[in-house]
Amino acid sequence: MNLSKSKYCNGVQCKKMLWLQKNKPEEKMDVSNDSVLDNGSLVGEYAKKLFGEYIDIEFNENLNKMISDTKEALNNKECIITEASFNYNNNFCSVDILKKNDNNYEIYEVKSSTEIKDIYKDDIAYQYYVLTNLGLNVTKACIVHINPFYERIGDLNLQELFKINDVTDEIILKQEEVKTRIKEINEYMENKEEIPNDISINCVKPYDCPFFKYCSKHLPKNNVFNIRLMRNSTKFKLYSEGIYSYDDLLNSDIDSKYKQQIEYELYDKDDYINKDSIKNFLDTLYYPLYFLDFETYQQSIPEYDYIKPYMQVPFQYSLHYIDSENGTLKHKEFLADAGIDPRRRLAESLVNDIPMDGCTIAYNMSFEKSVIKNLARIYPDLSKHLMNIHDNMYDLMIPFKNREYYTKDMHGSYSIKYVLPALFKDDPSLDYHNLEGVHNGSEAMNTYANLSNLSKEEQEVMRHNLLKYCELDTYAMVKIWEKLKEIK
Ligand code: SF4
Repeated sequence: MNLSKSKYCNGVQCKKMLWLQKNKPEEKMDVSNDSVLDNGSLVGEYAKKLFGEYIDIEFNENLNKMISDTKEALNNKECIITEASFNYNNNFCSVDILKKNDNNYEIYEVKSSTEIKDIYKDDIAYQYYVLTNLGLNVTKACIVHINPFYERIGDLNLQELFKINDVTDEIILKQEEVKTRIKEINEYMENKEEIPNDISINCVKPYDCPFFKYCSKHLPKNNVFNIRLMRNSTKFKLYSEGIYSYDDLLNSDIDSKYKQQIEYELYDKDDYINKDSIKNFLDTLYYPLYFLDFETYQQSIPEYDYIKPYMQVPFQYSLHYIDSENGTLKHKEFLADAGIDPRRRLAESLVNDIPMDGCTIAYNMSFEKSVIKNLARIYPDLSKHLMNIHDNMYDLMIPFKNREYYTKDMHGSYSIKYVLPALFKDDPSLDYHNLEGVHNGSEAMNTYANLSNLSKEEQEVMRHNLLKYCELDTYAMVKIWEKLKEIK
């Protein structure tokens, strides 16, 4: 088989994954995660500039063209080549950054994550194998990744944004393993018939396998992989012990919270409501009440000052509020203009909308608190007021997280996306599916990021969609709070 870096890494995770990709691609599910704006290619583009001037080997479907372009570039005695491409014995690879100094070569593999994973070492070990077998003297192999502690102030500092880790010694030790794995992968791919592998922790580590649904089709509909909040390692351990149906699990010694999910779903049990605890929670709240929700984006490459990679940058909020008992529900909102740093105006608007000592409610407040704390850090003139909002925040998630209110339709989760439909079945006004254009946080983030590329009319439509989405988030919180009050 013709291998590449990514195919080799897939094969390291599970050979069957490669076999299914080739022979049963229709069984593949989409497991991509688009919660971060910038993709690896943007990180790659910035990393190319790390060592100064470089020769870029342009991507070509014809890999031989990339290889011949690389050969030509290598005629330079000293040079930096990006996407330098090689093929040894049907094992192809493009090196993200190759530094040539006379007859010595250094290879750099660029990753958009903030830490090194073992699979990255397999990736660069494979590249080292290809290059050294072609006779190149590779003196250094490094993994380049994002430094999560870098904070942009002024011009982007690439030397600080990226961390370079020398893994040469480790990957030299892996060379026999690479050779064996390539042989095993090739042998496995010769199989005409599917080999019945069993599922294991490899199905989710290092990445979620897109064939998991297919490979787990022998399991009963209700099984251990439907248990929310249980660690994957625990699920696969139970599975390997033959404990995977809901009946098996009920007879095992798993935590009572998992058994609660199972019992409610199996036996259609009545809702559990701890009235005293809910009353105690509600008694901590006071008027005026503010229901707050932010929308944020994350960037691998910080665009503005005082932003770290992958930091949550707020661009929008919705605020429902009630001044006093029996007061009417009112609403305020903020959505930043496109293409600017949204934070200053958002922070000013927030302190304008929430008075000092108001009672602010969020759902999963650690998120809202961290956003506010970051704003307070960079705007000292607003810091006192912002931290007052921060310090007077209460978490509507608590009664559900503590399972003081639980129904079978929450399916073991306390996320608002499960709690809301469980409490308000078939209420179209609380159904995110009925919104136009924006239905979740990822779509909100991508819509905002794309705003400046749209015409004025299109922008207006999308801004309206964003506002409606965020408004529903806080309206949902109000409805949940009202539901808790009915119990009290
Ligand atoms: S689901 Fe698991 S066993 Fe099936 S192909 Fe993926 S990693 Fe391999």
